[in-house]
Amino acid sequence: MANTRDLLDTTPGACDAPCRDDAPVAIAAPLPRRARQATLAWGARLVTVGGAAPVRVQSMTNTDTVDAIATAIQVKELAQAGSELVRITVNTPEAAAAVPHIREQLDKMGESVPLIGDFHYNGHRLLTDFPACAQALSKYRINPGNVGRGDKHDKQFGQMIDAALRWNKAVRIGVNWGSLDQDLLADLMDANSRRSVPWQLRQVMYEALISSAIGSARRAEAMGLDGDQIILSCKLSGVQDLIAVYRALARRCDYALHLGLTEAGMATKGTVASTAALAVLLQEGIGDTIRVSLTPQPGQARAQEVLVATEILQALGLRAFVPSVTACPGCGRTTSTLFQDLAKQIDDFLRDRMPVWRLRYPGVENLRVAVMGCIVNGPGESRHADIGISLPGTGEAPAAPVFIDGQKAMTLRGDNIASEFHQLVERYIEKRFGAMAAPTV
Ligand code: SF4
Repeated sequence: MANTRDLLDTTPGACDAPCRDDAPVAIAAPLPRRARQATLAWGARLVTVGGAAPVRVQSMTNTDTVDAIATAIQVKELAQAGSELVRITVNTPEAAAAVPHIREQLDKMGESVPLIGDFHYNGHRLLTDFPACAQALSKYRINPGNVGRGDKHDKQFGQMIDAALRWNKAVRIGVNWGSLDQDLLADLMDANSRRSVPWQLRQVMYEALISSAIGSARRAEAMGLDGDQIILSCKLSGVQDLIAVYRALARRCDYALHLGLTEAGMATKGTVASTAALAVLLQEGIGDTIRVSLTPQPGQARAQEVLVATEILQALGLRAFVPSVTACPGCGRTTSTLFQDLAKQIDDFLRDRMPVWRLRYPGVENLRVAVMGCIVNGPGESRHADIGISLPGTGEAPAAPVFIDGQKAMTLRGDNIASEFHQLVERYIEKRFGAMAAPTV
């Protein structure tokens, strides 16, 4: 049997392809999206999801919701990191009672990020018995697999939609691989057994996820909920599973879609798996809001999941949140840690200053900075950036040329290269983006 290499070598014309082409290489870009647009509101703050809105970043707290102060503080941290919507667990009467206090604390802190309530099993009761909770939230997450079985399913689902109608709230119908509607799955398994060529079990489960999400959305619309105010999700923990299901979901409905790989895992694994899945779908125009479900490492800030989500969107060119730093990986030419230290210092410096710069310098998030390790690629990459520095590699003269807007501007020398470069970046930002700020009167 021919191996892959043989097949490649014998592909007709493969080796005769011209090395140049008259037609330019097509520029890659995410496909446009085509979903309906939901609006989540809190006071004067409106966050649109879907339609022409940018892909939104959201996250979820891991504090005990009953602890209103701790939860409000974490919500604020997540919002400051870039989360435009924050979900909180509402699982008990005590948690539901705490929700308006969390909202109140946030309002006192000047933080208007919309809150989403995450309900399972008892959401119908909590939203009915705690109207202040229902009112303080901007969206309800309903899992159709966890709203009760048999006769109770439709009734309890209906009670949650009634609350959304009463308080004029958006809803996410969030189906999850781990809590699939068992009655629906059983029906689909029966139907599958009657097929002449039965589907694979995995395909039946895909169908159950999608049918549960779209069927529940149609039921909510039949009850009077505006279809624009419904966001769907079908979360799975396998990258290829998620891609398969969302492609089908996007084809079969035009509701705004919440995208995320559930139970992605920890650290590198969780980050890479989430990025792999989300990047493929976002490039295809699928996904209107994203969450990266990272398991935090002990001591790690919850906001790490927000940073990963923003980096995914920024890397794809969908959004810009912070100035980007292009840094080479270093190699045998950079035997000291000077280059690594400087790259990290610049990155930290840019992130730390962003809360102020964002207000003072509109557009600063589009800044491109290069920090390179030696003369091999350093000057070239630095020229492509708005401002870049090429550090001396091993054996090179102890000098660091700085490039601004593609031109060599100066050479830094001595022990204060990092702080001098910080000042140059700050001055560059002030000059270029300060002019765009609205004049104060
Ligand atoms: S720019 Fe220089 S130091 Fe950086 S990876 Fe390339 S050769 Fe190595």
